Amino acid sequence: MNLIVKTLAIVFMAVFGLTTNMDLSTHARASEYLKEDIEIAVHDAALQLDETALAQGNFVFDYSRAEQAFRESFNENTGLTNNDYELVEFKVFDESNTKFPVTFRAEDLEFEDIFTNPTVVAIIETNVENYFSPNSDDTVRRVASYTYKVNLDRKSSPPNTIIDGLVANENGLFWVVPFTRNISSYFDPNRVHPITGVVRAHNGIDIAATNIVNKPVVSATDGKVIFAGTVSGYGNLVIVDHGDGFETRYGHLNSINVVNGQTVVGGQILGLVGSTGNSTGPHLHFETRINGVPYNPLLFYP
Ligand SMILES: [Zn+2]
Repeated sequence: MNLIVKTLAIVFMAVFGLTTNMDLSTHARASEYLKEDIEIAVHDAALQLDETALAQGNFVFDYSRAEQAFRESFNENTGLTNNDYELVEFKVFDESNTKFPVTFRAEDLEFEDIFTNPTVVAIIETNVENYFSPNSDDTVRRVASYTYKVNLDRKSSPPNTIIDGLVANENGLFWVVPFTRNISSYFDPNRVHPITGVVRAHNGIDIAATNIVNKPVVSATDGKVIFAGTVSGYGNLVIVDHGDGFETRYGHLNSINVVNGQTVVGGQILGLVGSTGNSTGPHLHFETRINGVPYNPLLFYP
């Protein structure tokens, strides 16, 4: 079997395994199951691949069959008809229309994710009365996505290192972990270190969230990489010099995507989130320094 066929076989088994193991009869009509029903439907949609493109080594969905499969699966599992809900958004990201990684945002749902591989995403809006319980006219909107685990690096073209869709703030700075804004530990010159127990300044902020491992870390702004390597404590570390004494540091990376001396632009991927060095769990340790002195990074991200 060639690589693509083998990969697909594995993916298919994973998808079929997931969908067939779910006992659909246990699906009570309660709001927490709406997301599950959408998840099953996007899985089913993701099985609709363009076989001609696949034969040529391109991972491409069959768009019309994908949407049809989505509706068939969703309708069957929920008992709804097309008239009972609105398919607010149905999107497929594949090698024919997307440079990965790509950011997907559903503003009204406060949902944002970075897709690194072919993905189907859907948003459903329905009336609570239709789906859950009588005597209520609330509407509810849910999103779900399914991403293939394929290695797109098999191609000779270099992977894109710029994430589409990122927006800089009023200071011209990109948030350094587009996946999440969650801060697990703040800048604190008098912090008691979580591992050593001694008072030791926390010279930056820690950004952490569920599933953050291997999410991209991007450069706050344009600059030059002045360090890319391993340091005790920091683990895998990238330091970017932005000129005028302004420097940013990115610690505990799982992997580093840049080399010392490389010029980078704001939003460019420097590495992936990890837990290397002195770290109690996966997070990005992010520092902003001016002339070597650490300042609270949140001063730059009001
Ligand atoms: Zn830290």
